Amino acid sequence: MFIDTHAHIYSEEFESDLDQMIVSANNAGVTDIFMPNIDSTSIDRMLSIQEKYKSCHAMIGLHPCYVKDNYLLEIKTMEEKLTDSRFCGIGEIGIDLYWDTTFAREQEEVFRYQIFMAKDAKLPFVIHSRESLELTISIVSELQDGNLSGIFHCFNGTSEQAKKIIDIGFYMGIGGVITYKNAGVDIIVADIPLDNLVLETDAPYLSPVPYRGKRNESAYISNIAEKLAEIKGVTKSEIGATTTFNANKIFNITP
Ligand SMILES: [Zn+2]
Repeated sequence: MFIDTHAHIYSEEFESDLDQMIVSANNAGVTDIFMPNIDSTSIDRMLSIQEKYKSCHAMIGLHPCYVKDNYLLEIKTMEEKLTDSRFCGIGEIGIDLYWDTTFAREQEEVFRYQIFMAKDAKLPFVIHSRESLELTISIVSELQDGNLSGIFHCFNGTSEQAKKIIDIGFYMGIGGVITYKNAGVDIIVADIPLDNLVLETDAPYLSPVPYRGKRNESAYISNIAEKLAEIKGVTKSEIGATTTFNANKIFNITP
């Protein structure tokens, strides 16, 4: 049994075969799929999927790559939706300094604000930290008062950064990148306790080998688990059990 803690299954890449994709995921042992939000335009579709499939759980939040001129309005929408719908977490939120740094200052402001939203709502949050891992770790460390919990999604840092994340009580999301040759994440992940890891696909992006370059989907969690089992020298079912336990603990869902 596995949980995909991060999949954008509401995106248009799944429009034609979502039902089939969810059946394949279930057949591959995926019991639950967590959907991180992007911006105000993705909320309705995500909520309709949550309504239809009890195994799919919606989050709310403004993705850092979508922090633009209208960010105040976007945040207002997120806050309104948060009060009138059911969400299991805040995400994905964070800072992205890889694509476009025009709104870097606003990204940080919005990230901090959404951490307070999570704290007020007593919800975990999922962090996007592309080219900003050190900065996002320092912000979460600064604000951690014992009431913050969540995941550094698509972890791609150093052993020192992993240690800092563990020290502040956060988890790391492991996805298809660990199956890529020369990515180096496998060596770092080998030393991180399984108790601090969860599985994720980030579908439709970052497909694991042998699907690299194709559309990613939740069923491929199985390939990620297999690689993690190999790295850790444990069975695939042990990977499933521990990471499922961790994900249930973070999102507070009863299996
Ligand atoms: Zn994502």
